[in-house]
Amino acid sequence: MSHELYLLTAMVVLALAYVAPRLYRLRVLRGTMLVTCPENLKPAAVKINMWRATLAAILGRQQIELCNCSRWPENRDCPQDCICEVVEDPDSHRVWNIATHWFKGKECACCGKPITRLGHLDRRPALLDVQKKTVEWDKLPPEKLPETLWGAKPVCWNCHIAESFLREHPDLVTYRPWEKGGPLGEYQPHTPDGEETTKRHAA
Ligand SMILES: [Zn+2]
Repeated sequence: MSHELYLLTAMVVLALAYVAPRLYRLRVLRGTMLVTCPENLKPAAVKINMWRATLAAILGRQQIELCNCSRWPENRDCPQDCICEVVEDPDSHRVWNIATHWFKGKECACCGKPITRLGHLDRRPALLDVQKKTVEWDKLPPEKLPETLWGAKPVCWNCHIAESFLREHPDLVTYRPWEKGGPLGEYQPHTPDGEETTKRHAA
């Protein structure tokens, strides 16, 4: 290997060693973050411009700015003072982390089963909101998540699907509540009038 190639390899290694820690530190700023807007003191969903932040880091600078905010475009020219909230503690502002923390240790309000850990590819739990309607938390506008979580109850994916079907197609379902009344504590249909639990399909 020629001296020039050794020199070039050494320069590349040194450059990577210089840039890699900066890029690694930036990774925590990915994703949608919830902040308290300094102007109106209400929740706002923001995203950091990772392209600019990465390019600046490669050039040895720090440039953290927003590329999106739920209060834009009306407040597009705001001073972006909320960035300091994200930079100081990115983990507690990430929407995913907020939802994960809220569901942790909870049980489904419908079937009582423990809510499983949130996974990016899994069927995710939903929310039973104050209107008693199940909604998928990740389909909500992120800035609405705090007020929706207040007073909401967790619902597992299976119950969310069942409740949604019941709400959207009430004519296709005969509803029978279930209770833990079996000899082994298993769930049994609650039929005080002795009716047989059935499902019927409208013609
Ligand atoms: Zn359930």
